[in-house]
Amino acid sequence: MTIRTRIAPSPTGDPHVGTAYVALFNMVFARSQGGQFLLRIEDTDQTRSTPESEQAILDALSWIGLDWDEGPNVGGDKGPYRQSERSDIYRKYAEELIEKGYAFRCFCTPQRLDELRATQMQEKQPLGYDGHCENLSEEEIAKRLGNNEPYVVRMKVPREGQCTFNDMLRGEISIDWAQIDMQILLKADGMPTYHLANVVDDHLMQISHVIRGEEWINSAPKHILLYQYFGWDIPVFCHLPLLRNVDKSKLSKRKNPTSILYYQRMGYLPEALLNYLGRMGWSMPDEREKFTLDDMLKEFDIQRVSLGGPIFDVEKLSWLNGMWIREELTDEQLADRLQQWALNRDTLMAFLPFAKQRMETLSDIAPLGSYLVSGMLPISEEDLRSTGMEDDQLMEVLQFSLWRLESIQQWQRDNIFDALKSIADAMDIKMKPFLAPLFIAIAGSSSSISVMDSMALLGADMSRARLRHAIDLLGGVGKKKLKKMEKAYQQLG
Ligand code: GLU
Repeated sequence: MTIRTRIAPSPTGDPHVGTAYVALFNMVFARSQGGQFLLRIEDTDQTRSTPESEQAILDALSWIGLDWDEGPNVGGDKGPYRQSERSDIYRKYAEELIEKGYAFRCFCTPQRLDELRATQMQEKQPLGYDGHCENLSEEEIAKRLGNNEPYVVRMKVPREGQCTFNDMLRGEISIDWAQIDMQILLKADGMPTYHLANVVDDHLMQISHVIRGEEWINSAPKHILLYQYFGWDIPVFCHLPLLRNVDKSKLSKRKNPTSILYYQRMGYLPEALLNYLGRMGWSMPDEREKFTLDDMLKEFDIQRVSLGGPIFDVEKLSWLNGMWIREELTDEQLADRLQQWALNRDTLMAFLPFAKQRMETLSDIAPLGSYLVSGMLPISEEDLRSTGMEDDQLMEVLQFSLWRLESIQQWQRDNIFDALKSIADAMDIKMKPFLAPLFIAIAGSSSSISVMDSMALLGADMSRARLRHAIDLLGGVGKKKLKKMEKAYQQLG
């Protein structure tokens, strides 16, 4: 059997380090055994998927040193590799399941489903579809179709017993069928859901091993059932442990930068980041910390993955990155890397239109622009307090801004301005004093160029990381205080 694995990102946001981690293990698992690794874009959620996000994911995975044998940008004979271009295929398979009696058309209105959910919550019953349309008569279905009533296609699921399957790392896993919902396979607009598209594509693309994050374990029974309904071979499942913050919670951008773009901008070397991701739950037989992708390919054994919940610790990553810089790069190579990274004409050209107004000598560029090529700024608590704002309010301005900025879809100056203005207005603070602490947090000084322009130049992740850093400098927000602030934030509207 040829080993074929895949990474199947949904292009709905910034390229996540977790995607690179799962992709790395898939690639190394396949290639170390002479197999193939492919990339498929799962963009069935048309409201959240964007071409920009898809491009950013492809670029980020390439930057870090991964490549795939088949994919939307490289082709292959099992394409197209973008699910939005395959909708006819899924419709055909959904029809097949209806014909075989494994799926049914569900005409329930959103209103009925809302009511059902409310009742189930009230009566503390398990949530999920109640099978209302499971056994409609042929005449009833024909009548409703004749009336053009919208419908979805749902899969049938046994009500009793358990689904038992084998996971390459976890051994036997059993999940009660009662916990599994009669999943929608095809939405009213004819687009498939993740579950149908994922199974159909893994089959058609001849994926032998599904290696993915542990958050998908509970979906495995639905997938296995679909394979059985279709009469297809079931791939081997392997659920990797999730990356975690230092406090062991699931890695989240609220606590830790998660976007690969942040690590790129921070000046981590792609080889070092890839090396660090290879250390997530896995180790070389001789336990050495620094290794290349080739080393990993030579020594890889998936059974060495430990399920203990790997901690993605930025300090550890920095330590490893330092080793890579000192031990692997000549001065010449380091100079090249610095230029590729940010000490180049593009960075200057983006900044000069703003800087020029404030320059008297060429050397002014260094103090004016150093914050653009820095990581966390050497600012202090006193710098933040020097804005004259009361402590509580200072914290609120920083935290509320951070929350509001997290919801921006397109990271552009005007959107950043609108987000901050809405908070300032809701807090009844004039823009100038409101922005003062943000100037310190983002640019290190109140005399820098407009803080909105600075944020646009720095990018979303670096801007958010600096706000988080400022909050930490002021002592951080404890759990209790956070709850209070969340409430106050919600009241702002
Ligand atoms: N599209 C899913 C994701 O975004 C893929 C999950 C899987 O690998 O099955 O993670």
